[in-house]
Amino acid sequence: MPAHSDSTPAATGLRCFRCGGEFPFTLEAYTCPRCGDGAGDDPGILDVLYDYDAARDAFPRGEGAAGGGVFRWRALLPVPERMETLPAGGTPLVPAPRLAERFGLRALYLKDETRNPTRALKDRATAVALQVAAALGHRTLYCASAGNAAISLAGFCAHAGLECRVHVPARASPTRLGWLRRFGAEVRVCAGDYDLAYSEAEAEGRSRGGYSRNCAFNPLLVEGKKTAAFEIAEQLGWKVPDLVLSPVGDGCTLGALGKGFRELARMGRTDALPRLVGVQAEGVQPLTARFHGRAAAEGETRATSIAVRRPRNALRLLSEVEASGGTMLAAPDHEMEEAARLLAREGGVAAELTSAATLAGLARLAAAETLEGRTAVLVVTGGRIDGDS
Ligand SMILES: *Cc1c(COP(=O)(O)O)cnc(C)c1O
Ligand SMILES: [Zn+2]
Repeated sequence: MPAHSDSTPAATGLRCFRCGGEFPFTLEAYTCPRCGDGAGDDPGILDVLYDYDAARDAFPRGEGAAGGGVFRWRALLPVPERMETLPAGGTPLVPAPRLAERFGLRALYLKDETRNPTRALKDRATAVALQVAAALGHRTLYCASAGNAAISLAGFCAHAGLECRVHVPARASPTRLGWLRRFGAEVRVCAGDYDLAYSEAEAEGRSRGGYSRNCAFNPLLVEGKKTAAFEIAEQLGWKVPDLVLSPVGDGCTLGALGKGFRELARMGRTDALPRLVGVQAEGVQPLTARFHGRAAAEGETRATSIAVRRPRNALRLLSEVEASGGTMLAAPDHEMEEAARLLAREGGVAAELTSAATLAGLARLAAAETLEGRTAVLVVTGGRIDGDS
């Protein structure tokens, strides 16, 4: 039985990626009670466990276009939808035949997450955060972010009439700060990078309260992100693509997609797993380096949404990429810039630099192996172009 009456019936437990410990499900879950934040090592990130037999019958069986957004998949979410929010999810899967031909693919699709309410996949996690906050009675939400997570939270809180406190790095772009102010968030610009913003956010959370929308530690938000995988499979008629490429910063997004595809196979909706390909920036690639057993060099990147030097979701990300038989790549900024141009000119989708990492990764993959006859999906995670208003 679920430990919290406000959770969904299929969510039965929590398991730590670090120590393997299992705990009863609770909406108040954060990090593993045994491992905590890992004291400098990998934190004890928890994973929501479900009773798949209980979820199977209530899980959508639609054909073709996904619609209805994140909570259409509530059979495999930890919370029901109890308040109305901006409509996250239900984004189109856009065929990109010109790009497919360029890389010798049978088909290429762009999962266009730029069409979410605040222009990024982050909205899927925010939608879940608001439902959990409502169930727990919080009126204030907070997070640390290089931009998109904070803007997403600010937009959703503005719409719902909730207080929003965000902590951003010193180098957050004027474009991103402008969006935060537009949505009326309380903005704290810290003196350092994302990692400092993160500690400050959590410290202030402890002193001033509020609900944390930090995907890095909050184990429930990843559940919202995995709905992008459900939609991709449904949009392809419950056939999974050969390859799914996503930019990787903290690791939560691609880890979530991997979980979603595994759950579909587990419930018998699909009969294979796509190879997950995570793409990082050459200048900041701790997870790519770790995947390949190399030391990560210290560098810079203009792809700010994935410039995470201390990823918290490493264990989740690495286990999903390995389970899928996939790999991790890194691309330099100039290749991402070229890819962003190509996505616009031959795909008709305006992606932010970070999201163009997917196409840069595909180009690198195509140079290393033949993609003949393959189907690939690029997860275009966001469309907030710095320098634009
Ligand atoms: C946050 C973000 C990512 C990376 O997601 P992680 O969960 O940090 O790996 C990729 N693209 C965009 C646009 C983002 O905002
Ligand atoms: Zn643990």
